[in-house]
Amino acid sequence: MTKVLVLGGTEEARALAAALEAAGVPFEVSLAGVTAAPEAGAARSGGFGGVDGLAAVLREEGFGLLVDATHPFAATISPNARQAARKVGVPYHRLERPPWRPAAGDDWQDVASLEEAAARLVPGSTVFLAVGARSLPPFLKRNDVRLVLRAIEPPDVGTRDDIVIVRARGPFTARMERALWDEHGFDMLVTKNSGGHSTEAKLRVARERRTPVLMVARPDGQPAPDAATAGEMMVLLRPHL
Ligand code: NAP
Repeated sequence: MTKVLVLGGTEEARALAAALEAAGVPFEVSLAGVTAAPEAGAARSGGFGGVDGLAAVLREEGFGLLVDATHPFAATISPNARQAARKVGVPYHRLERPPWRPAAGDDWQDVASLEEAAARLVPGSTVFLAVGARSLPPFLKRNDVRLVLRAIEPPDVGTRDDIVIVRARGPFTARMERALWDEHGFDMLVTKNSGGHSTEAKLRVARERRTPVLMVARPDGQPAPDAATAGEMMVLLRPHL
């Protein structure tokens, strides 16, 4: 049976791994190794060393399919993976969750980058930065706002010891998000348009509390998705397994 390499780090990758396991398909999941407690079942951790490194792994370890289920904001690995797969003639498939769309009652402003979001913060406001530790740097220069960052890993805050850090890993329920709003009194929310269910409750609570949202758009240049869910990807893969 064809051996599948899954590039992971997302809930979709975990669901796909479970489906491949259940179907008895040989596979390995690869993670970047950026968080301290990676999910169970990941066979590989750490980068490949760019396009050539990944191409060599595909060829030398006999993978017959590459599924890129990395996060929509992982802007390097996805184009690299597509290129590496092409290089060695292994089919490449992109599994990507759809972006969030605004609903009635939402007050969203779309921004193209974290830098633009940082520039748009209203002076004096208390801001919920639901962007992760590595996306904090553009906000550090805004010392005219109160920043509350939620992150899995502790961020480098430089000299900004006034930043409130909420260490947490999703999924987050609406109840958890309301408690955070109650505690901090957010005036603004900044989030990347990651999509998915595990972190979308904050958008519902922002709507309830009439909190404006700065919604950071997905990066350009990502390969087009072939499937939005693990189930769809399994249907696509089945004839090739
Ligand atoms: P990135 O900028 O696209 O990737 C940076 C480098 O990390 C890549 O060049 C590659 O190193 C390595 N890498 C990334 N994903 C990998 C994987 N699944 N397996 C092996 N190596 C990987 O990605 P990122 O934004 O730093 O994200 C890193 C990981 O965290 C991704 O797997 C992604 O799914 C997950 N994640 C990202 C976000 C986000 O907001 N960016 C959010 C949640 C989860 P080499 O060039 O050496 O191969």
